[in-house]
Amino acid sequence: MNHQKIERIIKDFGHERLCGSKAEKEFAAYLKKECEELNIPAEIETFNITDYEIGDEQLWIDGEKIFCKAYMGCGCADLTAPLFYMPTVDEFSLAECKGKIVLLDNGVAEKKFRSLVESGALGLIIRGGSIQHKDPFLRRRELRFASRLEENIPCLLIGTEDYISILKNHKKQARIIVEQKALTRRSYNVAAEIEGEIEESIVLAAHIDSTEESLGVYDNLSGCMALMEMAEYFANHRPYRTIQFLWCGSEERGLLGSIAYCRRHKAELKKAVCNITLDMIGSMIGGFCMMACANRESLEVMEGFAKEKKFSATSKFILRSTDVKPFVYAGVPAISFARYAGDEVAPIHTHYDTPEAVTPRSIIRDSRFICDFTAFLVNAEEFPIPRIIDEQMEREAKEYIEK
Ligand SMILES: [Zn+2]
Repeated sequence: MNHQKIERIIKDFGHERLCGSKAEKEFAAYLKKECEELNIPAEIETFNITDYEIGDEQLWIDGEKIFCKAYMGCGCADLTAPLFYMPTVDEFSLAECKGKIVLLDNGVAEKKFRSLVESGALGLIIRGGSIQHKDPFLRRRELRFASRLEENIPCLLIGTEDYISILKNHKKQARIIVEQKALTRRSYNVAAEIEGEIEESIVLAAHIDSTEESLGVYDNLSGCMALMEMAEYFANHRPYRTIQFLWCGSEERGLLGSIAYCRRHKAELKKAVCNITLDMIGSMIGGFCMMACANRESLEVMEGFAKEKKFSATSKFILRSTDVKPFVYAGVPAISFARYAGDEVAPIHTHYDTPEAVTPRSIIRDSRFICDFTAFLVNAEEFPIPRIIDEQMEREAKEYIEK
């Protein structure tokens, strides 16, 4: 892959690619076509996701309208009630929240949310964004556990500046209006295969979707392009082990694409000896990080390889919050690569994730290292990473997938 091709892909697909959207579908179709041009058989595998259509979202504080975003999956309402600030969710605060709209500094985990509902809170206003982002960017959030609640209350996200202003000025009352409906959408995975000489396989994965208001160039067109680079390489250099490529949709909504893939390909995954997931590479600045997501042996293998290649990188033993989880859950040792530019330079999941976050040169440099490493693994006579999953990581993955 050369600079021109990278620039063209960024120009053509570096725009919002929400899960289940036309943009996600078009990028999937492009990847399938690219594979077929390399004589790699590829399929688009669809799966259903629950999505929400927001009809209305309004917040009025003592008669003044405030910019807000409703949580996907929260309750619908048009209600007015007194405000109540709750810096910590404890028994004393919960005893006072009945009939009130509660201001919360941070997000709501399921347990916290349930205790607020049970204590009679009528609605939630949650602080989002950051004091540095003056143009209030608010990434829409989701109550992923909402469908399990019998009773549901409305939840709104507001900017940090507005949030502080409400408290500073001792505002008294809020009116919340939320209208939304749940619907089913189709999301897209692209699965391709280069057959090796033996049955064992490696699965290479990168997600194709972006969050709302993000162009998703760094997160994760970059990883998708690295996978394309590898498809091109292995189409011309037949691997010893089979390589499965997975460009998956709906990662940003809870790894839904890779979960669907691992369910659908459960039998084949018994032959998979490793998953390599790419998420955010090629940033202009920032260190390259190699993450072992299943066992420490893979950490040593990566460190040894980077040292031999004199490739500057750090390493970590961590179950990264990306598409590795369904593979770990399926018993496949996973590893992941990223180059971390840092939140101040390339904040992901915001409208600052633009083409400026990456450079073609950096994407090529990272892709080549990952491709070399993959070639080393896939062609190894004896596979250097054992099919062992760390107990704690197994538990974490299970908890995430079965939640
Ligand atoms: Zn990502």
